[in-house]
Amino acid sequence: VSGLMAGKRGLIMGVANNRSIAWGIAKACREAGAELALTYQGDALKKRVEPLAEELGAIVVGHCDVTDGSTIDAVFAEVEARWGKLDFLVHAIAFSDKDELTGRYVDTTPDNFARTMNISAYSLTAIAQRAEKLMTDGGSILTLTYYGAEKVMPHYNVMGVAKAALEASVKYLAVDLGPKGIRVNAISAGPIKTLAASGIGDFRYILKWNEYNAPLRRTVTIEEVGDSAVYFLSDLGRAVTGEVHHVDSGYHVVGMKAVDAPDI
Ligand code: NAD
Repeated sequence: VSGLMAGKRGLIMGVANNRSIAWGIAKACREAGAELALTYQGDALKKRVEPLAEELGAIVVGHCDVTDGSTIDAVFAEVEARWGKLDFLVHAIAFSDKDELTGRYVDTTPDNFARTMNISAYSLTAIAQRAEKLMTDGGSILTLTYYGAEKVMPHYNVMGVAKAALEASVKYLAVDLGPKGIRVNAISAGPIKTLAASGIGDFRYILKWNEYNAPLRRTVTIEEVGDSAVYFLSDLGRAVTGEVHHVDSGYHVVGMKAVDAPDI
């Protein structure tokens, strides 16, 4: 893939640490020759993101909390000042109160429903609005989703509802931005142990279940998600938009427990 993304400049939002899916995507894009800009959320993560950015020769374009539109504006203003335009954008952002990522969906509170939707679904639209202005030669926008949008997964609850909204947003954004040559896609990643995932109840059980029952009999890594992301973010995927693509060892095609799956 060396050189596949040479000359392309992309903003990657959602690196928290070296286990983040966004970090796997950043590494793969850099390996393919892209130039990168990263954001961080708050000072605690700044300390983690800065050395990671340095590793990839990426610039850090500031703090962004998607619940505060002025911080989104500031980040895109910085990208414009540095680069003048943008070729690709990665949205790897989600949040919900962990007290509601366990138990029953029906008990979701209105406040957490609104916050989860805002951070995990609406924020893609909020950043697409800003990106549209900078993607003057077309572009590629990629977000991260999960199978819990399509089927009920234990404990995923309101996040599943937000991911369903996110996947629908991908399609609406693809139609709105397509005439400008801007593509919008999602990768539906299999479960990976990250900071965000640690908030989900019984996550270890979900990981084991996937390992035993996915067609490939294993889970996926952030590097594998990164490699798939390169297809969407580079010109390899130039005719693909509005797509939700599973990078999950094939788990999404399975209808029942595998015959050889051990008990867990
Ligand atoms: P992570 O904790 O490494 O990344 C989540 C990121 O969201 C963090 O960088 C955090 O700073 C950011 N974020 C949260 N609230 C924010 C806000 N208000 N403003 C700006 N940024 C905010 O975890 P991850 O698993 O790499 O998550 C990345 C994406 O991948 C998420 O959308 C997640 O739902 C999705 N995903 C994860 C898995 C998994 O199993 N880990 C599977 C499928 C999809």
